[in-house]
Amino acid sequence: MVCKNCEKNPVIKLTNNDVELCKLCFFKYFEKKVRRTISKYKLIEPKDHIIVAVSGGKDSMALLYVLNKLKKNIKITGMLLDEGIKDYRDGLRKNVIKYCKENKIPLKIYYFKKEFGKALDKMVPKGEKACNVCGVLRRYLLNKYARKLKATKLATGHNLDDECQSALMNQFRRNIKTSARLGPITGVQEDKRFIKRIKPLYFLLDEEALIYASLKDLPFRSFKYCACPYAVHSYRNSIKKMLNEFEEKYPGTKNNIINSFLEILPLLKKKYTGEIKSCRSCGEPCSGEICQTCNLVKKLKLK
Ligand code: SF4
Ligand code: ZN
Repeated sequence: MVCKNCEKNPVIKLTNNDVELCKLCFFKYFEKKVRRTISKYKLIEPKDHIIVAVSGGKDSMALLYVLNKLKKNIKITGMLLDEGIKDYRDGLRKNVIKYCKENKIPLKIYYFKKEFGKALDKMVPKGEKACNVCGVLRRYLLNKYARKLKATKLATGHNLDDECQSALMNQFRRNIKTSARLGPITGVQEDKRFIKRIKPLYFLLDEEALIYASLKDLPFRSFKYCACPYAVHSYRNSIKKMLNEFEEKYPGTKNNIINSFLEILPLLKKKYTGEIKSCRSCGEPCSGEICQTCNLVKKLKLK
């Protein structure tokens, strides 16, 4: 087969419509999808200061590249969180520092060890729900520092695969309230203490982000070959495997899950709108008296 638009050699076959695209047509397809998502869900407004959460993986590097390329009348700052995961984070951090320097993108780095007194490796024994701890602490730091930097939006590299996995995980664990916080632009209600999170890669597949980042020669590390050592133990990883098997057998499954989810999302947001309080211990916004981070800090005897 040849590229549907210009008959050159294809680099990808899109799963949904049996169409193949060459390198340049794929770049156009990818960037058009990002622009459409931004405009349909009003993710970015003029004069926004956007913090881009960068991990050094394909998604966040593709996101940083595209936003930097498309940026007009907005400010972009990268933010990297170093959890302290041996043989994993160091290399990624160096790549991000180099890339941001070469492309004149300001970068802020925060370390779990400095923020919470211990690196993630020392907080949880190997294989023991590290992702749950990591996820809570990451969300806390991203919001706290995005607000301190006076950002108006916090952009993450979550793609269609990530969102499908999150929606199913919440369904399987009967954790529907958490799903109300998903979507291309997150947040159940407005609160200036929460910086709105945006996901410009929302309608792009994992594989598409991988091919885009590879063909653009972005300095990412593929997690296929250099995965976080904790990922293999995670619940998400099991869901991911299951979803990939389904997509292989029934192409379009992931798109169908997301489109069905987006139909019910407004109902979830309406149902789960509630009062936002301030954590009695740290002052950060939360739904209860004490935020999840302060509960973890106490439980794991951090700081
Ligand atoms: Fe953190 Fe889990 Fe991601 Fe590793 S795989 S960086 S522990 S959330
Ligand atoms: Zn707190």
